[in-house]
Amino acid sequence: MTEIRRRDLLLAGLALPGIVGAVAGDDGSVKPRRFEDTVGFEVADVVVRSRLAILPLGSLEFHGPHNPLGSDSIIISGIAERVAARTAGLLFPTIRFTQCPAHTAQFRGTLSVRPEVMTLYLADVLRSISHLGFRKIFVLNGHDGNIGPGRGAIAEVANEMKDVALLLVSWWEFLPGEMMKTLAMFHQANGGHGHGGPLETSAVAAFRADLVHLDLAKDLPEPPDLSGGSPYFLEKSTATGWPGYSGNVSEASAEKGKEIVRISEDGIVKLVENWLKHDQVPGSW
Ligand SMILES: [Zn+2]
Repeated sequence: MTEIRRRDLLLAGLALPGIVGAVAGDDGSVKPRRFEDTVGFEVADVVVRSRLAILPLGSLEFHGPHNPLGSDSIIISGIAERVAARTAGLLFPTIRFTQCPAHTAQFRGTLSVRPEVMTLYLADVLRSISHLGFRKIFVLNGHDGNIGPGRGAIAEVANEMKDVALLLVSWWEFLPGEMMKTLAMFHQANGGHGHGGPLETSAVAAFRADLVHLDLAKDLPEPPDLSGGSPYFLEKSTATGWPGYSGNVSEASAEKGKEIVRISEDGIVKLVENWLKHDQVPGSW
């Protein structure tokens, strides 16, 4: 049998129900189709049947004495799994070794890749995903340090390839401070945001409550706001006097985290559905 005929037979045998964008789990819940679970030649069919590719970005970074080093990766993997199941996207493995800012890189436990290396690495990953046949790639971010390299990598791939659309969002941006304030979960002017703060700690607990140890951290002031609420980006080469987190972490809970994650997930799914529906919309400017 020639290689081609053997492959055709294999593909025909795989044309069965189940090779779709999502699969049913043992407990009846809908699970996403995962790229790494795809078997050999099945990949061609899986790509055709998936509406988009979803690439989560996490980190390995100190998040205070109370949170796991994989906090961002845990949150974004959990959200991406549900978003992929709901949008019939093919879920790629979370990228965990990423770029961390200098002020968290000084804490033992933070692993950081240089920003220029991260940009080139991510561009290669995105290029390879588009070579599979994907024309829509959704980069779902769980870590602030990925925003710069992420945008750089997307620009690089979009500049060199035809007919590819790449969307990048960060999960916490679906929880603006004003919205968080109306939910009244946390008594902070910024609604609980901040590295290792109550909002993020709750989101970690939503997925891995066993890894959150609130007894190991004391409450701290919320992060300073220099602009009255407008976003800004400040990076410092030293972290003197900063304990690696902020805010009233004692207000964190898994229950609040589940609510927070659900709101973010709903917002992300809505965005993705709109994006898929309105193919003609131009890129951001
Ligand atoms: Zn984080």
